[in-house]
Amino acid sequence: MTDYIVRATAAGNQIRAFAATTKDTVEAARQAHNTSPVATAALGRLLTAGTMMGSMMKNESDLLTLQIQCDGPIGGLTVTADNQGRVKGYVNNPEVLIHANAKGKLDVAEALGLGILNVIKDMGLKEPYVGQTILHTSEIAEDLTYYFATSEQIPSSVGLGVLMNKDNTVRQAGGFIVQVMPFVEDAVVDRLEENIKKIDSVTAMLDRGYTPEQILQEVLQGMDVEFTDQMPAEFYCNCSKERVERALISIGRKELQSLISEGKEVEMNCHFCNRNYTFSIEELKELLKKANR
Ligand code: ZN
Repeated sequence: MTDYIVRATAAGNQIRAFAATTKDTVEAARQAHNTSPVATAALGRLLTAGTMMGSMMKNESDLLTLQIQCDGPIGGLTVTADNQGRVKGYVNNPEVLIHANAKGKLDVAEALGLGILNVIKDMGLKEPYVGQTILHTSEIAEDLTYYFATSEQIPSSVGLGVLMNKDNTVRQAGGFIVQVMPFVEDAVVDRLEENIKKIDSVTAMLDRGYTPEQILQEVLQGMDVEFTDQMPAEFYCNCSKERVERALISIGRKELQSLISEGKEVEMNCHFCNRNYTFSIEELKELLKKANR
């Protein structure tokens, strides 16, 4: 395990902070979906945010979904995370190709275009919490900063980065989220803003070998950082043949019957991890027996 999330407080609990290194997570997503470099960068940023935001939730069964609906060629992104560092996700068009922008960086904003960000927290209540904001820069980190400020009223700073190798595998990935509490003193906010102006990009820090702890030390320089806990992060999908079977049973007898009468095996794809599950006619007939409507 190399990927992990670290949590911290600073300035005597006036700040809470999260940082993560997610290279293996993003590389696993890239391999699962065979994403183009710009799609890897976009998905990697959102996966990294997802692991950290997932870890903010209280209960093991809580689920966080970050969903971007946008008009750019990537078509949209969806990421789901639990509170134990497990995250999965996909982009609608993994093959999207965009030329590097003027700075020679992968142009995530161009791939996304205009759109909205939905933050859905399913905490086992009747209705999930849904927060929605429009994309401001479509670079994802700034959009999440805006989301925290407007939907959750928590002033935050979000940094996310994915760096690719020449062969398009993931070289570095990670990020941080720093949030100030309502009772924060002005001097602490000023110091934080100054620090943020000075720091290098997340990918530059990671590429220098910085750990998530060192990234937070940099962002929160001079503010008495206290690390409170650490947890592994991974790309993980909980799909299984049994789950897909249950989904097939739930479509009902009529639909199953029509699949059977088509006379060929059925392939079901998990969007989140791109695994395929094949069902033979015999298996479909078994499922039909189990379907009660
Ligand atoms: Zn899956």
